[in-house]
Amino acid sequence: MIYLDNAATTKMDSRVLEAMLPYLSESYLNPSAFYQGAVKIRMQVEGARRSIAEKLGVPSDTIFFTSGGTESDNWAIRLAAQLQCEKGKHIITSAIEHPAVLNTFKYLQENGYDVTYVGVDRTGRIDITQLKEAIREDTVLISIMHANNELGTIEPIEEIGRIAHEKGILFHTDAVQTFGHIPIDVEACNIDLMSVSGHKLYGPKGVGFLYIRDRRSFGRLLFGGSQEKGLRPGTENVPGIIGLSKAVEIAYDRLEQDITNVSALRDLFAAEIKKAISGVCINGDNEHHLPGTVNVTFPNISGEALLIALDQSGICASAGSACSAGAIEPSHVLIACGLTPEEAERTLRFSIGRNNTQEEILKTISVLKTICRV
Ligand code: PLP
Repeated sequence: MIYLDNAATTKMDSRVLEAMLPYLSESYLNPSAFYQGAVKIRMQVEGARRSIAEKLGVPSDTIFFTSGGTESDNWAIRLAAQLQCEKGKHIITSAIEHPAVLNTFKYLQENGYDVTYVGVDRTGRIDITQLKEAIREDTVLISIMHANNELGTIEPIEEIGRIAHEKGILFHTDAVQTFGHIPIDVEACNIDLMSVSGHKLYGPKGVGFLYIRDRRSFGRLLFGGSQEKGLRPGTENVPGIIGLSKAVEIAYDRLEQDITNVSALRDLFAAEIKKAISGVCINGDNEHHLPGTVNVTFPNISGEALLIALDQSGICASAGSACSAGAIEPSHVLIACGLTPEEAERTLRFSIGRNNTQEEILKTISVLKTICRV
């Protein structure tokens, strides 16, 4: 199998599995329990939190473990809006967010909030002028993703964070596609809330975290016990948390190396596909893009037919995001960029990761060339 769908999920690093195994067997005690063995587990969880916080350069009491990106997005957006409803009910996001963000905004819209969806240019970059114009006296939240999961386009979050803070508006960013892949400076970007998921960075599924800059002014999505300082109740996913922290440690250790290697493979893919198939169009921003994501519109062949043919050759890619796979509608992201539904239908995402090789890229191009010639 040639796996070119790393934006959907990544293969867990074997060192992550090794770190998790004891917590799936003998180290099973509930971290909230009184006895010494449980206290040890609690200390391991706190060690994981500290280790992640250090990588981000933030205090460890700003990291709250969750079940992943979807929960973190829901929690951040719902609570940021609801806790400020006295101040205002206008909230801003972009047209290209992940469904975890878009559907939370939709829920709030159905419950009395006024939502502005800021547009993007052809490359998927946020229209900053439109964003500034959208801000009102009663705007209480701006949620813009760090990088888009379909295009790989990186958004100008430093500028967006500055604009938000100048106006006293909370800023949330979905960093599910970026944390552990490119550097993030939460201070410089004025990020108040940030969502992260473990399985996108060679860690386990079903675990992630929400960074909350100021927990004193924040609330809970779930109700229950006193775990995570009472803000995110439920017995901790100890193996997941330990695995996540190990994955983050590995990602930060090899961040520069991964960026260099994966970018080189992406450049190779982009150059070779243009040579091999005339009329292909690479979408997204040429300069501001994730190291491994390439979004390609093919001439005269449907994305679905391509995906099936690629699958028959053992190559995994994706049409739109994994979460909307199976849906027949064209990708909302590509439509927001100005592609026609017909162009969107001829578009695939290839997402390269640290385990891919040059041979795999060249083999994929050669298979694509053969499919497109038929
Ligand atoms: N946000 C983005 C940008 C994503 O790409 C994804 C997953 O595809 C999510 C959120 C959801 O994360 P999770 O799968 O951890 O719930």
